[in-house]
This record gives sequence, structure tokens and C-alpha cells, in this order.
Amino acid sequence: MKIIAVHAYTTKTQPKVSFVWRKGLPGSDPVIEQTWLRIVTDAGIEGWSCAVRGPIALDLIERRLKPMLLGKNPLMKELLWHEVWELDRLEEFPIYMMGVVDAALWDITAKAANLPLYQLLGGYRDSIEAYASTVTYSTTEEFLDVADQCLARGFKAIKLHAWGDARKDAALCQALRKHVGPEIALMYDGSAGFDPYESLYLGRALEDADYLWYEEPMREFSINAYKRLCEQLDIPVLAAETSDGCHYNVADFIMQGAADMVRTSWFYKGGITGALRVAHLADSFQLSVEVHGMGVENIHLCLAIRNNHYYETLVMGNPVVFESRIGPDAHVRAPEAPGLGHDVDLQTLEKVAVAKL
Ligand SMILES: [Mg+2]
Repeated sequence: MKIIAVHAYTTKTQPKVSFVWRKGLPGSDPVIEQTWLRIVTDAGIEGWSCAVRGPIALDLIERRLKPMLLGKNPLMKELLWHEVWELDRLEEFPIYMMGVVDAALWDITAKAANLPLYQLLGGYRDSIEAYASTVTYSTTEEFLDVADQCLARGFKAIKLHAWGDARKDAALCQALRKHVGPEIALMYDGSAGFDPYESLYLGRALEDADYLWYEEPMREFSINAYKRLCEQLDIPVLAAETSDGCHYNVADFIMQGAADMVRTSWFYKGGITGALRVAHLADSFQLSVEVHGMGVENIHLCLAIRNNHYYETLVMGNPVVFESRIGPDAHVRAPEAPGLGHDVDLQTLEKVAVAKL
């Protein structure tokens, strides 16, 4: 099989719900810009994936990725994965661009095998429980109201993205535990908003409130800072979500004792290939690897990786808007179509694209 054409289409859409993150971070984008990558083969099979940016993604596809891909065999994913890392050395790709080619190549491979991707990757389960991952709401009362809506929708696990104030966030986490009782799994995501001392204060509060995990309290630059935090706390610290360098970097987090659980995703770890490497690395140390973020790529990973326990689905707005693929029991079920299952209408895309290649 040979790649005979590479196309890209940038679109702009309005977000259905706008939201905010913790203090210091921008909230939802006023306009969502995405760039669809379409890899065409001489076998009549096409691979799709989507980059979460507009002009930057289009530029990198045009100057670097398209020339790399044309004429190559799309089934040689291992080779092409390493070629992307070679280009990254020159270009310093944004981390979200590291997996865009790889995901489209896996789409082609799974379509060629006539299998939904998670089965091609091994297949461990055909449905998985989702946790409600909140955006940041204004008050404790609003967070508790949102939690009630999630429980009424069938969720049994909730993760907070709160304000980024260690004392206020600690009080919120304790109030939520009191509100939902001991049976609901609760997690907290710091979105890297804290210094080491605030991280310790908050971590102790989460331990007291029996939280399941404590995610990314600090930027993931200092492995030493995470090592100290892990030594000081009993609650599992979940780290290496946004750190660069895929499994090469996650290996150091694990070996230094700087993470009790690790993150993986197609988005931050170099596509499906990179995400699986991190998962297998964690498994060899008997550690959990929790898949970060939503979307079809991550669903396939959640269904294929044994040591992952949940699918993360963002809940936003009030009344809360839930992702439509979540079932009434808060589980997400396996896609049946061969490949990744992106639902792209080429004719519409050609029409609505604001820029294309
Ligand atoms: Mg996170």
C-alpha cells in the first residue's frame, strides 16, 4: 500500500457551551479551530485524524508532514512514528501535533483489517465506565448541584477541575465528599496550578476525603518536585500528562518514584503508538495508566488498555451538557465501524473549510 495524497482542511465552529478553567488559564475558545488530516492510499482506503488547531496545524502538515508521507507505505507506522520524532527535533512540534499522523495511519490499518481499532490493538473490554470531569464552576453550591446532575445521569465517578486556590479547593473537595457519601469515586485535577507547598496542603486534604487520585498539581517540569510530593503523600499522584517525550520521559517519572499512576493519551503522547508504549511501560511496573481526555481515539485506547480504568468525559454548562455517546449507565460502548470511526462528510468539509491543502 502506498500514500498517494495528503489533504488537510481547517474549519471554524462556534462552541455549543462556553466555560472557564481555574484562575490563570483561558477558558473555552470563542471559536473552535480544527484541522482535519486526510491521508489517501492507492488501495482506496483513507485515514483521518483531527488536529486541534488551525493555521499552525495546516502549516506543519504542508511543510513537514505531507512531504514525509507521500510515497510511503502507511502500514509502516513504527518507521513513520520515528520519522515524526526526527522532524520534531528540527521543528519543535507542538505536542498535540506528535500523534496526528500516527492516528490517521492506525485508521488506515484498522480499515484494511476491517476491524474497529480497539480490537486490532488487542481488545480488552467492549465498554468502559466514564467519569464526569467538570469544568470550573463559580461556587461550592454550583459544584454540588452539578454533582447531583451527574449522579442523576448515572455517573458513579466525578473529577473536579476547581479554582486553583489550595485552601478553597481543599474545602470544596471535602464538601463534595460529604455531599455524595463514601461510595462515589472522586478525583481532583490541579491542572498544574500549584507550587510544591500548596500541592502538599491540598494533597493531605484529598487523602482525608478519600479521593481516588490526585492529578497534576504542578507543571511537570521538575521530576524532583513530584518525587518529593509522592514521598510525602499516601494518595496516588497521577502525573506525566502534559510532559514531553512520550515513554522516554514517563520512564523517568516511574523510575524516580515521581508518579504513582501515569497519564497516557493519543493527544500528548504521540498518537496511538506512543500512548500504547506508555501503557505497556506502566504495566511492566504494575502501575495504572489513565487515559486522558475524550474522543474516539481515546475510546479505542480505553477499550484496549487493561491497566486503564475509566473514560474521561468533560461535563460543562449548567444545566449540565453530557457527551451524547455516554449511555444511561455512564458507560461508553465500543464503536463497531472499522478504523477509528470518525464521522467525516468530505463534501461538507470541502464546503465549510476556511483553508485547505
Ligand atoms: Mg488532567
